[in-house]
Amino acid sequence: MKQYDFAIIGGGLGGLIAAQILSKEGKKVIVLEKNKHFGGVMQGFKRQGVVFDTGAHYVGGLNVGENLYQYFKYLDILDQLKIEKLNDNCFDKICFLESGKCYHFAQGYDNFVEVLSRDFPDNHADILEYVNRIREVVAKYPLYSLVIENGIFMSFEYEHLSTSIGQFLDEVTQNEELKLVLAATNLVYAGDKYSTPYYIHALILNSYIGSSYRFLGGASQIAKLLVEKIVESGNEVRNYSKVVKFNFNEQHSIQSVQLENGEEIKADFFISNMHPAASLHMISEDRLRKVYRQRIIKMANTYSIFSSYIVLKPGSFENISHNIYAYNQNDVWNNEIADDQWPRSFMMLTQSEQEGQTHASGITVISPMRYDMVKEWEGTTFKNRPQSYLDFKLEMQERLLKLLEKQWPSLRDKILAIESNTPLTYEHYTHTPQGSLYGIIRSNAEPLHTQIAPKTKIANLTFVGQNIDIHGVLGVTVGAFMAAGLYVNLEQLIQKVKEA
Ligand SMILES: Cc1cc2nc3c(=O)[nH]c(=O)nc-3n(C[C@H](O)[C@H](O)[C@H](O)COP(=O)(O)OP(=O)(O)OC[C@H]3O[C@@H](n4cnc5c(N)ncnc54)[C@H](O)[C@@H]3O)c2cc1C
Repeated sequence: MKQYDFAIIGGGLGGLIAAQILSKEGKKVIVLEKNKHFGGVMQGFKRQGVVFDTGAHYVGGLNVGENLYQYFKYLDILDQLKIEKLNDNCFDKICFLESGKCYHFAQGYDNFVEVLSRDFPDNHADILEYVNRIREVVAKYPLYSLVIENGIFMSFEYEHLSTSIGQFLDEVTQNEELKLVLAATNLVYAGDKYSTPYYIHALILNSYIGSSYRFLGGASQIAKLLVEKIVESGNEVRNYSKVVKFNFNEQHSIQSVQLENGEEIKADFFISNMHPAASLHMISEDRLRKVYRQRIIKMANTYSIFSSYIVLKPGSFENISHNIYAYNQNDVWNNEIADDQWPRSFMMLTQSEQEGQTHASGITVISPMRYDMVKEWEGTTFKNRPQSYLDFKLEMQERLLKLLEKQWPSLRDKILAIESNTPLTYEHYTHTPQGSLYGIIRSNAEPLHTQIAPKTKIANLTFVGQNIDIHGVLGVTVGAFMAAGLYVNLEQLIQKVKEA
């Protein structure tokens, strides 16, 4: 039986990046993905020729020399990526539909302060304080700046972890409207005002303020390119390869994984990109301390979404070079809403395939949705769900369209086709628990208990992916370098990234 240096379980972004790093560093690697397509939550699909994404709609850090730019350059995927920069003076537009007021987030820190200060002229100092506080946090996470000092890669400063976004914004400004605007993009991190630690807000907002890009033809191109590169270097990637069991040796290390079809794959080291709870379910109780196992298995996951994918009539709708976050009411912390009030908000973006395309090919709209809203159909299977579920989906789609019409009254005339997904669809396609968007919830009340280290209690098993690190393309990339850095010298690796 072939013996690999590394078997990577799961070909999501985290697994593929870890595999490509280790391939580049000369290791013999195999990636085992249970689905047909690689990419995990970041898959693309086509409707009437228009490519839509299940996850990852825009990323930061891709200006020349910025963090993600350098990471992707090292990974040999940068040059082939098809991306388009969002509008410099507005990458995110925040709109309150009742008042009709909109605000703009601009790229570049100085520009961000200047543009937002136009709407809040009396709060210029507060906005400056906000960006300075964000940059202070980022400085504590050296892998985000590609600076490593004294071998320190990650901060565990209690203040960043234990302060909620709500508290942080209260410290920054007394202006309630400004607080709402600064928190309005909380869907990109499934933020909760009282419990999400503010370092998450800081690291994510920092990357978008630095620079914001959209993928032409979908973000799934990242996974495709990584797979190509791993294979080019002589390593293996296998789809339809669900791992169902870890086999242990007498030294209490994993010696192989077993696939659903009974095949065994042997390796020296195993990196799991699965949800950590799923990995632990494959390890017998006597091999791990009960407290460790229970803590991880009981961790709650972030909420899910309802999404609609609209194919537009050609030439009917402007291609908008920013995202729109719209709120029905003057409140942005709206995730726990009553079912009959859904939806209270949406994030909308247009799809395009070519740089500079004047008209959009499609529209993606997403809105947070609690799993409870679809729980009654939990046991049903994809494509065999009952009429009541299909009716529910149509009703929610109609409600979302009505909200969109507040902003674009003639939208319906421009629609060629529309399809929607619920948390159940997400659960089916992405295999995340209850269709969770970004994995495990971090809490300021129990900061260290809601973090999972990549190194596990099993000597040759490491975790990678959004449940371990910060979610998102940048967060998962940084985390994959941390995980690979347990096996190759991280300081030297980051030096290569800087020099790529
Ligand atoms: C709707 C949505 C919008 C998003 N928008 C953005 C955005 O705009 N910008 C941004 O940066 N990020 C965004 N993200 C987040 C980003 O896409 C994710 O954080 C990232 O892709 C997660 O990658 P991962 O490797 O951690 O996990 P996953 O993608 O979940 O990968 C895990 C992989 O493991 C596989 N697997 C599981 N069990 C097994 C098994 N037993 N055997 C073999 N394989 C297995 C799964 O099939 C999957 O491929 C978004 C996510 C979603 C869902």
